[in-house]
Amino acid sequence: MFQGDITRCHVDAIVTAANEALAGGGGVDGAVHSAAGPRLLEASRGIGHCPTGEAVVTPGFELPARWVIHAVGPIWRGGRSREPELLASTYRSILARAEEVGATSVAIPAISTGVYGFPSDLAAAIALTTLRETPTPVQDVILVAFDSRTADLYRDLLSENRANPTDSDPTP
Ligand code: ADP
Repeated sequence: MFQGDITRCHVDAIVTAANEALAGGGGVDGAVHSAAGPRLLEASRGIGHCPTGEAVVTPGFELPARWVIHAVGPIWRGGRSREPELLASTYRSILARAEEVGATSVAIPAISTGVYGFPSDLAAAIALTTLRETPTPVQDVILVAFDSRTADLYRDLLSENRANPTDSDPTP
């Protein structure tokens, strides 16, 4: 877990919370596009579209990260429109894109929890469960929290996982 600006992360790939049109936006996507420079928007326009629950990958251009994974999380519509399932699918898709480009370290923001309105606690639990359950060659996954509430949620979930004796994490 890291609390701060994802654009500063020196990892193979950083993830941005994109929209289906890959048109750039506010929040984390705005920060990623301004740090990567205008070629990022050209590259995402070249791809053109990404359905909710999936992710696409482009170079990172001026970012320290070599790749940007543009992940489209669901808009929260009250919880009965398959939002949890779609968010889990978004996280699986991120790992699949990272594997395709050979990224071994990936930084991921709290997808859908900003403008898209997904409850932060539920989103954090889905993020952690999905990332732990999905087989992947990616070695380091960094959960990036921008605000302290999200950082606390991740911290609590990570310590709960560590305390669970049935967990496969060998850390005492
Ligand atoms: P969405 O539309 O998927 O909700 P947002 O960008 O509005 O995406 O928010 C997703 C999360 O990213 C929020 O928790 C927000 O606080 C966080 N965020 C915003 N800017 C940054 C940044 N520069 N680095 C990391 N996380 C960020």
